[in-house]
Amino acid sequence: MKNVLFVVIVLLLAMGPAASDPIVIAHRGASGYLPEHTLEAYAMAYAMGADYVEQDIVLTKDSHFVCLHDIYLEPTTDVEERFPDRKRADGRWYAADFTLAEIKTLNAHERLPNRFPVGGAPHFEVPTFEEAIELVQGLNKTTGRDIGIYPELKAPTWHIAQKLPMEKAFLDIVERYGYKGPDAKIFVQCFEPMTLQKLRNDMGCTLPMILLISDDKVEEYLLTEEGLDKIATFATGIGPDKKSVEENPKVVEWAHARKLLVHPYTLRKDQCPKKYAAFQDEIKQFYTVYKVDGMFTDFTDECVKYLAANKAN
Ligand code: CA
Repeated sequence: MKNVLFVVIVLLLAMGPAASDPIVIAHRGASGYLPEHTLEAYAMAYAMGADYVEQDIVLTKDSHFVCLHDIYLEPTTDVEERFPDRKRADGRWYAADFTLAEIKTLNAHERLPNRFPVGGAPHFEVPTFEEAIELVQGLNKTTGRDIGIYPELKAPTWHIAQKLPMEKAFLDIVERYGYKGPDAKIFVQCFEPMTLQKLRNDMGCTLPMILLISDDKVEEYLLTEEGLDKIATFATGIGPDKKSVEENPKVVEWAHARKLLVHPYTLRKDQCPKKYAAFQDEIKQFYTVYKVDGMFTDFTDECVKYLAANKAN
């Protein structure tokens, strides 16, 4: 009997807390299958078993958050045809120059040419941040699951220059939707360390936060032991370009030694590097060899499949 109890306890311990299991982050929704940052792409990612659904957010002229990867509208909407005269001198259409009502009349489309066909039907909308949250929370209610959101504040310093500060408006929304404290099912991400420091130290935000780090030479110092020491004073983890991890896998160990999570971006089946014979090999390399805590992917289903099979072994 004692032995049975011992075995049960060991098994329970081996299962570990769910929070430490590696996660799948649906990058721009299931963007490998449907136009990025649409409610349809978010719903598909949810159904495929994502742990977190990512929203990139920018502000409109009338201070509403919409889900867009860029501060520009033309890479993923038909704004050029609909509002030909509303571009700036640099030839670009900025979300910050349009009201939410105007943006809602646009047709959103996929960015990458090899993916969901651009043009024609069906009509896709640019969602507001609130609509994206309500979709995830609604599905959490109907499915009984508890999936998180993973919003990225896009170009906060640029927004301040447009007289559209993001930070307080953002905190008001997430708090209104019940995201509070370090265990909330949310990761707040940003490429600008100053923004996360401001949220954490000046605005009292205790939500989990991820500092995104590009593979730019300028940002290299952030992925040193000294850089990570600094990041650990305000962030919960890092979101490096996957190439940075491949170049120096030790960075995962260094981050873990500072209790920082590592969520690299982005695994893409249709852009899988040639050195991997199959996409599943690239997924395995990151989760099992580099031992990251989560991955951003355009192909949620592929990462979920890998983790499920790996867990069963
Ligand atoms: Ca993003």
